[in-house]
Amino acid sequence: MTLDRPSYVWPGGKRSAACFSVDVDAEAPYLWQHRAAMPDTIGALEQRRFGPREGLWRLTDLLERHGIRGSFYVPGVVAETYPDILPELCRRGHEVGLHGWLHELVADTTQADFVRALDRALALFEAQTGQAPAGFRSPAWEMTPAMLAALRERGLRYDSSLMGYEHPYEIDGITEIPVHWSVDDAIYFKFLGGGADKWPPVAPLHVGEAWLHEWRSGSAYGSLFMVTVHPWISGRAGRIAMLDHVLETITGDAATWWATAAEIADWHARSPNAGRFLVAATVPTGAA
Ligand SMILES: [Zn+2]
Repeated sequence: MTLDRPSYVWPGGKRSAACFSVDVDAEAPYLWQHRAAMPDTIGALEQRRFGPREGLWRLTDLLERHGIRGSFYVPGVVAETYPDILPELCRRGHEVGLHGWLHELVADTTQADFVRALDRALALFEAQTGQAPAGFRSPAWEMTPAMLAALRERGLRYDSSLMGYEHPYEIDGITEIPVHWSVDDAIYFKFLGGGADKWPPVAPLHVGEAWLHEWRSGSAYGSLFMVTVHPWISGRAGRIAMLDHVLETITGDAATWWATAAEIADWHARSPNAGRFLVAATVPTGAA
């Protein structure tokens, strides 16, 4: 432990950075959850299909109004079911990244199944977009050291699933573009009905104020403001209006650098920050 903590350097003298990330989950988590036995109900599926039908394109329109290019993480099964998504996002200048095949939850997946899903998704992305994606985001933000190694071996330039710093760092030799639950829409808004929910959805304007508070507070530390939304959740009109206000406020600050996660990873690799924030993905052995 050292008291002399280096501060993160952003390009062009910017004080902090912001990234708008979108996890295009659609029905993939539902398919994973019910992979052994699929119910014949369609309520949750219809909630989720609102994402690719409508919510996703409201989000891209919103970003375009503010001149922001986002990072969109798409499970393979979603890209396969909706084959226009990846090409259209690329055509609009956004980044597309990996998010598993069936939104496999890391804690419930073997390394062999993780690698199989990763390779299948990589092949589909290359077939649909003509290029390899730069980054990976794990479903529900969990990882293992072996999974980080699998990303590195495939030449991926970054992972975006962990929370060990509030700015980019390197973990086991791969650049990490960190996330945080405080700026994820699901914890505030996800509401499936049928008695499945622990709390009611939060009013959008309260969430907008909380996110601007996170952005302002983090800016003082040179943090990355990595907001994460889901089209089926935040594509609803009241939430789009909230995001409109958040983006208008942040884009009005000349000291914040808006970038895609891939651009941030590339900056990290070629900047004075490279090699200054190195950690190992160590897992302690049991205390027994
Ligand atoms: Zn997801």
